[in-house]
Amino acid sequence: MNSETLISVVVPAYNEQEVLPEFHRRTTAVLRALSCQWEIIYVNDGSTDATLLVLDQLRKADEHVAIVDLSRNFGKEIALTAGLDHAAGDAVIVIDADLQDPPELIPELIRVWQEGADVVYAKRRVRRGESVMKRTTAYLFYRVMQNVSRVQLPEDTGDFRLLSRRAVEALKLLREQHRFMKGLFTWIGYKQVAVPYDRDARFAGKTKWNYWRLWNFALEGITSFTIAPLRIATYLGLITAAGAFAYGAFIVVRTLLYGNPVAGYPSLLTTILFLGGVQLTAIGILGEYVGRIFNETKNRPLYFVNRYEAARQVALPHTEESEGARSREPQSSNLAGKATAVEQERC
Ligand code: UDP
Ligand code: MG
Repeated sequence: MNSETLISVVVPAYNEQEVLPEFHRRTTAVLRALSCQWEIIYVNDGSTDATLLVLDQLRKADEHVAIVDLSRNFGKEIALTAGLDHAAGDAVIVIDADLQDPPELIPELIRVWQEGADVVYAKRRVRRGESVMKRTTAYLFYRVMQNVSRVQLPEDTGDFRLLSRRAVEALKLLREQHRFMKGLFTWIGYKQVAVPYDRDARFAGKTKWNYWRLWNFALEGITSFTIAPLRIATYLGLITAAGAFAYGAFIVVRTLLYGNPVAGYPSLLTTILFLGGVQLTAIGILGEYVGRIFNETKNRPLYFVNRYEAARQVALPHTEESEGARSREPQSSNLAGKATAVEQERC
């Protein structure tokens, strides 16, 4: 760890024009206090407002800024992936643009990384500005995930985290279309350490999540990481069939003992409707998985880049060969001077 250590900060941004300048100011203030190199990679995820203009201005004013402009809106998960693909850092930090993840936590993430962790995730202590309903559903989701899948999702974590180079390389190998990032971060393994923090309310703009999207997100998480629902469908079918069998036997016995009164229409209808419901549910669950297989087999690239502008500070992408000879613009002496003059925290 030295002043050559490069930290990449990856920021997905979708319609974040109000927040970005403040985000950049705060994040830069934090990074400047460190003694390492840094780049901030903004991924414009097909914003329809002036986000890209704001980013261009930021890049003009700051040589640490890189811009990945995607060809359309692909969703946060893929925007994040695009950012990771373009990040050159020895450690990569993933953070939301809306300042719900405090950039001030970055030095702490770096400290834990330097102590040997590969994935350092920020774990929120309290959620400000979020309704009881949202908190409850989130809580339930994590409980369900924890119980039905083999991946132990850490609770109360967003995507705010630091990844070591080898964690990033591992993640880059996972090219599935259905990207449940929280799950993928965990799935790669390595040493994962939590750092607690208080999550703030959005600084400005509004969240792109509504309950329908959250529901779909949960569905994504579950179907990407477990086939338990398929198994549940099987057992449900078995139980229903066993019940129907017992009921049939009961009717036979009753008819033998007491003859056959014409009653039974309501019970018949109930049975048919119930079985129909169970079948439709099971087919629906099956469909969720078949649909995902369909999407994966198309094997499409995850995203297209409209324009990529690297940070002027960091010229080459991180590869094994470029590791030693990562070429940067020669540092001006006043910059180097500053680096030693300021009380440097770490790196
Ligand atoms: N985001 C994105 N593409 C999208 C939706 C969101 O890149 O389609 C970005 C957004 O700009 C922000 C982050 O993902 O930086 C988190 O979004 P948001 O605040 O809406 O989600 P929440 O904090 O409610 O999970
Ligand atoms: Mg947010």
